[in-house]
Amino acid sequence: MRIPEPGQWQAEKVSQGYVADYKPFEFVDGEGVRCSLYVSGCLFACEGCFNERTWNFRYGQPYTDELEQRVLADLAHESVQGLTLLGGEPFLNTQVCLRLARRVRAEFGAGKDIWCWSGYTFEQLLAETPDKVELLGQLDVLVDGPFEIALRDLTLQFRGSSNQRVLDVPASLAAGEAVPWARGADATQRYEQVAHRPLDQHERTRSPR
Ligand code: SF4
Repeated sequence: MRIPEPGQWQAEKVSQGYVADYKPFEFVDGEGVRCSLYVSGCLFACEGCFNERTWNFRYGQPYTDELEQRVLADLAHESVQGLTLLGGEPFLNTQVCLRLARRVRAEFGAGKDIWCWSGYTFEQLLAETPDKVELLGQLDVLVDGPFEIALRDLTLQFRGSSNQRVLDVPASLAAGEAVPWARGADATQRYEQVAHRPLDQHERTRSPR
């Protein structure tokens, strides 16, 4: 697994604007009925990643105006609770995810929620580039942190390893620390606040793809 220094990985340098998949009206990527956009490209390289094909920033197809209109039309259905952004790494594809999140807020306000899965932790994102901080500010729920195979636990809600957290983003931003999502199975748990872990020598010598 790779861990970036703040600002080391920039969407403007790595994103190709590609999406691996779009799944409307599904039930597993968060609460309620959701429309899920899987963007392409990830640099975390977690061992045991559930979706290794999407590490490639040119996997799938380019994100288009037509797909954006389709997502917005699907979200308009009254049964749909919101949008989910997954990958790949959404925060390394802010050209796509931020553009779509802004459109969702412009058209639906708080009427639809936005969930996101990221290999970055909440604390890392606070120290990141402005595009990542802005995308964080558009979210309602963030499932954060890389998948750690040594901490794998299939009984967890919405996450694959116990280092990951299901966070209420507005509450976390207001508190300045990670706050559990109140309707989650971990709502009564006090999550560990994650300090930024500097790269060790081994990680420093490996260059990103
Ligand atoms: S952050 Fe997610 S998509 Fe990226 S390697 Fe880790 S598990 Fe896979």
